[in-house]
Amino acid sequence: MKCPKCLAEMEKVAYGEIKVDRCTDCRGLWFDMLEHEHLKAIEDSESIDIGDPEIGKRFDKLRAVDCPHCQTKMIPMVDLQQPHICYEACTVCYGVFFDAGEFKDYKEITITDFFKDLLAKRRK
Ligand SMILES: [Zn+2]
Ligand SMILES: [Zn+2]
Repeated sequence: MKCPKCLAEMEKVAYGEIKVDRCTDCRGLWFDMLEHEHLKAIEDSESIDIGDPEIGKRFDKLRAVDCPHCQTKMIPMVDLQQPHICYEACTVCYGVFFDAGEFKDYKEITITDFFKDLLAKRRK
C-alpha cells in the first residue's frame, strides 16, 4: 500500500491485536474502519505514532488525497472533541489517515488543546 500523502511505501505495524499501516517516509498512519477508535482505548498505544509532528503538520495541508485502499477521494474530517485535529476519511471503506503526530494528539486531550480549540472555534 502506498501513502496517500507522500506516496512512499507503507508498512504494517501491530499494536496488540490491531494492525495499522504506517508510512515509511512521512510516518503518517492509516487505520481501517474504527481501528483508530479501538486503538485510542488502549493504554500507551500512542507509541505507534513515531513521526515528527512538524513533518505531519506540513502534510496536514495536503487535503485532496485518494484513499490508499480503494482510491476514492477522501474527505477532511474534524475531530468533534478536538476540532484542531483534521484527518482524512474515506466514505467508501471508512478508513482514516492521520498525519504524523496527530494520533498522539488525538489520544491526549491536554490543557493546551483546550485553548487551541477555543481559538479554532472563535475563528469560525
Ligand atoms: Zn507518507
Ligand atoms: Zn477507501
